[in-house]
Amino acid sequence: MSKNRFDLHEERLSTTDEHGHRVYLHPEDVKGPWRNRRKLFYWFLIGLYLILPWIHYKGKQIILLDIPHREFTFFGMTFYAHDAPLFLLVLLAFVFTMGFITSIWGRVWCGWACPQTVFIDTIYRQIEKWVEGKSRQRQKLDASPLSFEKVWKKSLKWTLFLIASLHIAHSFLGYFVGARRLFWITMSPPAEHMTLFFIMLFITGVFLFDFGWFREQFCIIACPYGRLQSVMMDEDSLVVGYDVKRGEPRRGQVERSQEGDCINCYHCVKACPTGIDIRRGTQLECIACTQCIDACDEIMLKVGKETGLIRYDSENGFEGKEKKTIKIRSLIYLAAITAVVSILIYSISQSGNLKATFIRGTGVPYRETTLSDGQKEVLNLYRVRTDFKNKKEIEVFMKIKDNPGVELVTPKNPFTINGGRSKNSIIHFKFSPEILKAGSRSITIQFMDESKTVLLEKEVKLVGPLN
Ligand code: SF4
Ligand code: SF4
Repeated sequence: MSKNRFDLHEERLSTTDEHGHRVYLHPEDVKGPWRNRRKLFYWFLIGLYLILPWIHYKGKQIILLDIPHREFTFFGMTFYAHDAPLFLLVLLAFVFTMGFITSIWGRVWCGWACPQTVFIDTIYRQIEKWVEGKSRQRQKLDASPLSFEKVWKKSLKWTLFLIASLHIAHSFLGYFVGARRLFWITMSPPAEHMTLFFIMLFITGVFLFDFGWFREQFCIIACPYGRLQSVMMDEDSLVVGYDVKRGEPRRGQVERSQEGDCINCYHCVKACPTGIDIRRGTQLECIACTQCIDACDEIMLKVGKETGLIRYDSENGFEGKEKKTIKIRSLIYLAAITAVVSILIYSISQSGNLKATFIRGTGVPYRETTLSDGQKEVLNLYRVRTDFKNKKEIEVFMKIKDNPGVELVTPKNPFTINGGRSKNSIIHFKFSPEILKAGSRSITIQFMDESKTVLLEKEVKLVGPLN
């Protein structure tokens, strides 16, 4: 049997040649119902990504991850640095949810919702197609010697890639800086916001490199989720697969009268964005993008055969075995999600309305002075950030619990915090170094409302000389 140039090598990645060099893929376009569904969904996700930073709810950006101020807002709820355990729970819930989804629907995330797939397929590949033409024209251009046409097409393509990357990077930063604030920042000279400017350049560079050039290499060699999928999936998980029973022996291997439904046209291979041949079975490189389903269905319709030679099914389904819809693995994930989400909801409901974060002053950890009577005194400086969630306004009084010889010096006490806002104050603790020598290093600060009800207690560590 003659070897087709699309017969992939058995022992090396389809995206590397015999010298180990990268083979840049130009997957063929396909038309079909899965392609249409994905396109719609991708545009919906991109729209959401671009619009979300501009939506405000309860006076705050709907998602704002303000890292410098350690303030994280999600749909009207604000969390602070001291809510870190809640973030851990959210992360756990996310991991278990991914496990649950993967155990049932396989790599649906990779093919349908991963930013890598969504941006490359919807924006970067479309630009490439628009500038350099269809798959074969692009391959021809890549293989051609340097010419005026090649230079202008490549320059235009990379300029458009850069514009797209800049736009995606700015929207990304909008989640951290605030979209409206970022808009005004972009109107001012970069010199006024050098750090942010360099961060923006860096993120743009990462997107340009990854979406413009690195592409499927990230899925194949760098993505940790891709590596973990085999642990999360079983023979009942949904995969994009090839029906060996129906397709084999494929055309060219046996007499026409004995051959299966696969006409060996390689359309599925040519359309695959990770360059694999799905007829070799489920592979790590497969991102379940459904491109090969539409590619093969197109061919099946042309040759008058039933579609679905490549389709969404489980391994058991392909083998004609009974498919389980309820699986122990999925139930375990579901139980874990329920447990984590319950703890999360309980923790949020129990977390008080008042939050306080003590941040030690930068520079020297403490100052030691000698008083007029010769006694030594240690000074600890803190920035206190207080946040109040629900009420419109509250008057808060701060005091040291049990008063262990430490004096609290604040600019204003009691002080007022507006609901949904935060307040920063600089405070000092004054104490004799003897306190530390006596072994007392922690004090408890109480925050009380007008009726002297304790709303919150926070422990603060004192620092000073030990001898
Ligand atoms: S094998 Fe099919 S589903 Fe998997 S990545 Fe290639 S085209 Fe997408
Ligand atoms: S597209 Fe379908 S018929 Fe063509 S090679 Fe792939 S599986 Fe066979």
